[in-house]
Amino acid sequence: MIALDLHPSGRHFLQIPGPSPVPDRILRAMSLPTIDHRGPEFAQLGLKVLAGIREIFQTRQPVAIYPASGTGAWEAALANTLSPGDTVLMYEGGQFASLWKKLAERLGLKPEFIALPGIDAETGLPASWRRGVQADLIEQRLRADAGHGIRAVCVVHNETSTGITSDIAAVRRAIDAARHPALLLVDTISGLASADYRHDEWGVDVSISGSQKGLMLPPGISFNAVSKKALEASKTATLPKAFWAWDEIFEMNAGGYWPTTPNTNLLYGLNEALDMLLDPLHGGLPAVFARHRRWGEGVRAAVRAWGLPIQCADAAVHSPVLTGVVTPQGVDADALRKLIHQRFDLSLGTGLGKLKGRMFRIGHLGDCNDLTLMAALAGCEMGLKLGGVALAGSGVQAAMEYFASHPQQQPLKAAA
Ligand SMILES: *Cc1c(COP(=O)(O)O)cnc(C)c1O
Repeated sequence: MIALDLHPSGRHFLQIPGPSPVPDRILRAMSLPTIDHRGPEFAQLGLKVLAGIREIFQTRQPVAIYPASGTGAWEAALANTLSPGDTVLMYEGGQFASLWKKLAERLGLKPEFIALPGIDAETGLPASWRRGVQADLIEQRLRADAGHGIRAVCVVHNETSTGITSDIAAVRRAIDAARHPALLLVDTISGLASADYRHDEWGVDVSISGSQKGLMLPPGISFNAVSKKALEASKTATLPKAFWAWDEIFEMNAGGYWPTTPNTNLLYGLNEALDMLLDPLHGGLPAVFARHRRWGEGVRAAVRAWGLPIQCADAAVHSPVLTGVVTPQGVDADALRKLIHQRFDLSLGTGLGKLKGRMFRIGHLGDCNDLTLMAALAGCEMGLKLGGVALAGSGVQAAMEYFASHPQQQPLKAAA
């Protein structure tokens, strides 16, 4: 038996920003027997999840589902729409943007990285990793590209390494203002089903997501929502694509099937997650977004009370999914995480890339509620004290006050 199964009591607190804790209801749905993926029952499941996932992306366009982690769907978005040597404009807002750029290079594309220049004075960390995507920088760069050599603009909606949710509608407006024909590709791997996301309304050409964040599923399936313009581009794009090719997938999806073996049990889980997220009795997507915004507020109230900087320095783009907490110079955030894990069985997200050792991330997504979040914050506060970090005040107290004085819009229980 692996150590995971040896807990004497209670549950592990998986407070990382993905994989997120999976609700029991979804785990139970996934435990059903695997069925014939070419049989008649399967088509019902296939058609239902394909329709439901469109509602989550807020789109009427097709959505491809891959048996892969989010990285596979990143690759699929590029491979389907672009050709070798194409220039793509990518915005450096954090580590996931940097990884996507590396992937683009490996595919034979020419990514051009733009970012807000400079170092942030409060933390000594890169300025562009503390603010949202700057649409005006994208507009300037596209205006200078009179020959339209840039084929796509790639941005991350919810940058999971920093806790920043960028304004995608503003990026669309920037592309339109520059009258530029580039495709808009958006990574909403950790934004979808937690933060408001509108594939159609925001004019996104390919939206990329994954299962293990807001959808509350285990890792293993990922998505491309595809606009008509992107589908057209895929007909002439020449990067090699076989497994990722949209054409055969969409053709088979019309009948509720896939060309290769889909991840049947994860699709059971997706079906259950869609029922939970879209249930009108619980307020549907607007309630999902409000719930995450409120959790973010409560967690940030705690961080502010501790007197520690929040990685996101712009209140307009705080992520409803996670909060990045910057540790004081000289305090190793990873040593602190290790201590908290050992003492309280609480997993926190590590600082990624340029933030390594300087921050930890608290996920507020998946199967969680006010009280599980309070427990997670208590674990953080005890750990910070044990780690010798001087705190300005009690974050636990501040979060309790926030949650108590801001009831959920959607009552948890009907009045007796
Ligand atoms: C998790 C994540 C990824 C990577 O997805 P994998 O499932 O690990 O392949 C990419 N981008 C963002 C913003 C993410 O949060």
